[in-house]
Amino acid sequence: GTPQRPQGHSGAGVPGVRHIVAVASGKGGVGKSTTAANLALALKKQGLRVGLMDADVYGPSVPTLFGLHSKPEIEGKQMKPLEAHGLKIMSIGFLVDAGTAMIWRGPMVMSALTQMLTEVAWGELDILVVDMPPGTGDAQLTMAQRVKLSGAVIVSTPQDLALADARRGVAMFRKVDVPILGLVENMSYYCCPECGHRADLFGHGGARAEAQAMGTPFLGEIPLAVEIRAQSDAGSPIVAQDPEGAHAKAYGGIAELL
Ligand code: ADP
Repeated sequence: GTPQRPQGHSGAGVPGVRHIVAVASGKGGVGKSTTAANLALALKKQGLRVGLMDADVYGPSVPTLFGLHSKPEIEGKQMKPLEAHGLKIMSIGFLVDAGTAMIWRGPMVMSALTQMLTEVAWGELDILVVDMPPGTGDAQLTMAQRVKLSGAVIVSTPQDLALADARRGVAMFRKVDVPILGLVENMSYYCCPECGHRADLFGHGGARAEAQAMGTPFLGEIPLAVEIRAQSDAGSPIVAQDPEGAHAKAYGGIAELL
């Protein structure tokens, strides 16, 4: 469910949107966007009204994840989010091409993000999941400060390096009083589709131990799985494609804890 969460700072909210939850990572490529998309779908499956905002200006992947490539319509002064699998979706990738997005600077990133929050007709939502830009630079910090975030989910792989980045992510949100909802370990282990053997490619238990050390909840682990990647590439994330499968259950378990 979605209990009332503490609101520890005074950024702007979005009218009609009860909770804004950031999905963040200390560095790129750890599966932040995949996690954000599947968590949004898992929350939707719980009967919530859910939006997904792709704020990853450095590499928006939501258009690919959902096979959406049209431009949003303008209605009055607002853009209408696109829809897929019952989610309202807006991506910086609908507005600019990837090449342009690469050279954006902090202030431009910030104004684009503000626009996506305030000039999009989100309507009534229980939860807006924001796929944040990776890293812990100024753009992320400003976003965390200016927007009234109910909390942040940090995605990491079990590797030490990625965990060190995750620690920076946690520290950044704490600095601006955004509650850390917890840590998700992605690419946690590999399960052989042929024989079922489970291999801990990057070691195991690192994120759980780290979460404990940082005093943040450990939300769960998602394996490195061919189907997860293949479904993302095919424009229909695993939770939408196979809602009763083991992976959907894993994402569902994490969504329950938010
Ligand atoms: P980020 O948003 O952190 O940059 P992405 O979500 O775009 O990362 O994931 C990077 C790549 O890894 C993508 O090709 C994605 O399909 C793949 N991927 C992410 N999570 C998993 C997973 N659990 N199993 C298999 N592939 C994954």
